[in-house]
Amino acid sequence: MLNKKIQSEINEPSSNAHIHRTDDHISVMPLGGLEQIGANCTLIGYKDSWIMVDLGIAFHDKLGIDVITPDISFPLSLKNKLKGIFITHAHEDHIGAVHYFWSRFNCPVYLTEFSAEVLKQKLKSRTFDPETSRIISVFPRSPILVDEFKVEFISVAHSILGACGLYIQTLGGSLFHTGDWKVDDNPLLGDKTDFERLSEIGNNGGVDCLLCDSTNVLVLEDAGSESDVKNSLDKLITKYKNKRITITCFASNVARIEAICELAQKHNRKVVIIGRSIYRMIDAVTETNYYTKNFKRYIDNIVPDEQGASMSPEQVLMICTGSQGEAKSAMYRLARGENRFIKLGKQDVVLFSSKVIPGNELSIREMQNSLIQMGVNFVTSDFEPDIHVSGHPNKNALRKMYDSLKPKALIPLHGDPVMLHAHKDFAEECGIKNTVFAVSGDIITVHKGDGVLKKLHHRNVVYNALDGKYIIPINSNCLMERTFMSTQGHISISFVIDQYNKLISNTDILIRGVFLTPNLLSTVRKNILSIITNQLAKAEMGESVINGNLRRDLQNDVKQLFSKLCDKKPVINIHVHQIGKTFKNKFSNEEVL
Ligand SMILES: [Zn+2]
Ligand SMILES: [Zn+2]
Repeated sequence: MLNKKIQSEINEPSSNAHIHRTDDHISVMPLGGLEQIGANCTLIGYKDSWIMVDLGIAFHDKLGIDVITPDISFPLSLKNKLKGIFITHAHEDHIGAVHYFWSRFNCPVYLTEFSAEVLKQKLKSRTFDPETSRIISVFPRSPILVDEFKVEFISVAHSILGACGLYIQTLGGSLFHTGDWKVDDNPLLGDKTDFERLSEIGNNGGVDCLLCDSTNVLVLEDAGSESDVKNSLDKLITKYKNKRITITCFASNVARIEAICELAQKHNRKVVIIGRSIYRMIDAVTETNYYTKNFKRYIDNIVPDEQGASMSPEQVLMICTGSQGEAKSAMYRLARGENRFIKLGKQDVVLFSSKVIPGNELSIREMQNSLIQMGVNFVTSDFEPDIHVSGHPNKNALRKMYDSLKPKALIPLHGDPVMLHAHKDFAEECGIKNTVFAVSGDIITVHKGDGVLKKLHHRNVVYNALDGKYIIPINSNCLMERTFMSTQGHISISFVIDQYNKLISNTDILIRGVFLTPNLLSTVRKNILSIITNQLAKAEMGESVINGNLRRDLQNDVKQLFSKLCDKKPVINIHVHQIGKTFKNKFSNEEVL
């Protein structure tokens, strides 16, 4: 809870702290979410104070990397000038990196009640104690004062509970950061977008700049409502009344999960939940005011996997995560026959109550191909449009937001460059004069009163990758080496020489990931041995010769050999051991470039 001093200042943002210097602009610095869908993070600065809005992840699925995060080196360098992290909602692309980084930031996290529950669950898996940490639950329409910033959470409809946009006021101007939002007049569970409050702000002079979700700017059709999805699923459950039905959807869409549970009860089916993240979301709901008597009734209708597996098809409705074909996800495993208890077959139908997130097309198709090969029928929004509705604003919804808030400028966020560019054009068509196409690392100033935007500076930022336990820059040498090894293969050659550079051991040659026929393998071995013999004959006696030239010359010759014989450039690692001397084995990507 806020202390009295802060509460009293909420209505008086122009306290003494502001008397000495008042800047006439706010700075906006996106750090992620503009190069792809995901890893959203934006810094907002006024004078020497900064706040962060969202700190999310993006899914990657390349080179053993599942997750990427924004570059946090600049916000870390701000130290105590970073006053708070504000989370618009609990989708992974907005909250997913907080538990990796928060212990390195000396500031509280502000978020709504449901998002706070999701964050607490994430923190439980870390060594960071959520009880003693500063997680501050904030209620919509109840502004808080954090240093130079007055921040009001304003409810927006989205595909998760507790989503809000942020109305950020300073003495140097005002912004509205929409987070993810849509127009939904019947969201089933959770709030509608609070256009009443947004219009009030618009009628009171509007905001200097709108930072806005661009995901669906290319979409003409209005996003339907969650109630449409419920009706569509109801019809499909009736249609497939003799089949076992699996509905795959996003775990975070609690309204939809509740609706599916209600439909299961209506159709006399027991619910089987596959995917721990759905249980985590249900746990989060039970800790909040969204928990209702109905919710409890539906939860009581859930049976364990083993029990569901032994029931006849028409008695079971399964809810499953992994609609994007993510490796290791519950749906991915089901489609590969890897679930311990449930085996899909001709008796099954899978309903994809989800959209294709751009970039996931191939993995989803791969999963659907597996389902077909198993004899499983499936339904997607291509055949049944209302089986899923988007959580993002199309052109009509965007226009409604502009009309309500009356922004003087717009910075498109949350999209890939195509979406951001289209959003900039659309805002200009709608009469917003000041717009900018930003990339992560830009520092843009928003001028108070007229919303004039200026790109002041660009700081080079590099996304991070979660690699096992460690977070490393996505352009690090290690990942470049992995790229080469995975695409070109790897050769390791090892032998021992005496102090006169005479070969005194067998030569071990290990070839991995390079296709060679038996004949070619024998040619390669002969050639490598001949290269070693020739190079040793050339080598002069002494350490400097071996350190400086022998290994490099061997590498060059072996590289040329593979290029000529296989048209490949494998990573080559040569270990030369000289009796009485030790040499370092340098293993670096430069050697193979
Ligand atoms: Zn998002
Ligand atoms: Zn979202």
